[in-house]
Amino acid sequence: MNEFTFCPQCGQRLERRHLFGRERGHCPSCGFIHFRDPKLAVGALIVQEGRVLLIRRGVAPRIGFWAVPSGFVEYDEQPRAALAREIAEETGLEVEVGRVIDVFPLADPTKNGVFLLFEAHPIGGRLQPGDDVLEVRWFQPEEAPWDEMAFDGLDTLLAYLTPSGNRER
Ligand SMILES: [Zn+2]
Repeated sequence: MNEFTFCPQCGQRLERRHLFGRERGHCPSCGFIHFRDPKLAVGALIVQEGRVLLIRRGVAPRIGFWAVPSGFVEYDEQPRAALAREIAEETGLEVEVGRVIDVFPLADPTKNGVFLLFEAHPIGGRLQPGDDVLEVRWFQPEEAPWDEMAFDGLDTLLAYLTPSGNRER
């Protein structure tokens, strides 16, 4: 998120002040302090019968490249609920979201943030690509398009998929 020039609450021009350990935008009129929070994104490694579910991205960044189903957490959402919503939107599947596999820096260079990679397990729904997805497919780990992946973190995915061979819960 860029720095605000004007107060988002009252429209007054913000001043720069040293507050709570660093310089922040401060509104002299209403007292608003601009805390620049990191974006929170969530994604899922979905493995079933030895196959991993990947989507081909239909939106920037990295259109046309493959990724795990993922998306941003809304302001009033918890991460697991956000992930279940994103997976339903992108793949048509209903899932149960399990444990966190790993935590990464957000791959989108236009935003500072955190990416939580979870396990998720399908419990219903029907596989169907959503509006912002070009394609959704199950892959055997050895035939997946690993050289056409949108984001880093591939080593974690591969380590998770390969050591004991197609690990499932
Ligand atoms: Zn203000």
